[in-house]
Amino acid sequence: MNIVLFGPPGAGKGTQAKELAKHYNIPHISTGDILRANVREGTKLGMKAKEYMDKGELVPDEVLIGIIRDRLQQPDCKNGYMLDGYPRTLPQAEALKEILEKIGKPLEVVLNIDVPDDELIDRLSGRRMCSCGESYHLIFNLPLKEGTCDSCGGKLYQRDDDKEEVVRQRLEVYAAKTKPLIDYYSDRGILVNIDGTGSVEDVFRQICDVLDPYRK
Ligand code: AMP
Repeated sequence: MNIVLFGPPGAGKGTQAKELAKHYNIPHISTGDILRANVREGTKLGMKAKEYMDKGELVPDEVLIGIIRDRLQQPDCKNGYMLDGYPRTLPQAEALKEILEKIGKPLEVVLNIDVPDDELIDRLSGRRMCSCGESYHLIFNLPLKEGTCDSCGGKLYQRDDDKEEVVRQRLEVYAAKTKPLIDYYSDRGILVNIDGTGSVEDVFRQICDVLDPYRK
């Protein structure tokens, strides 16, 4: 199953991708998570990426293309993959096409999770993360104990790029550079729109209805 989860920041790609990857037994490949792990570990790549991420800008294409090329060739991708947060620009989409042709795993579906802008701002500015990968929300998805992760007991934090000014910049970058990929994949006949405004469970069910026929 070869899938891209597409949509603006805050659409719920990460939340859905985590569940879907478990459900269909394919790896969840989030370029944002890969970059944040590099920032935490203080690698050269992480230090370079942080400058862009903190401002809500995109990390340069050549960096992302290199990351995704290596990741898709790992053995756990043999039955497919679920990409989250990649591609975000036309050159990234073109590079992906080339990589996938080479490894013989062409994209089957691009799921476009659609959520209106004002709701995205509320979602992102209330989001709180745990370093174990869980995410919560101050209004929509509170942890049992304030400031503490239900799964691992870790301390919750706000991503630097979830602060309101950075969120607005991320949405502008999305509209200018990433949104045009909707037409790109729609023209290729593999784009499916998903209404991302319902509950996590509703959105999950909508996506499964689309993906079940692709299960091998
Ligand atoms: P995300 O967790 O997907 O919202 O990504 C967080 C940040 O990482 C983005 O705002 C970008 O700065 C950077 N990033 C993640 N994926 C990409 C990508 N495919 N291209 C460029 N920058 C990316």
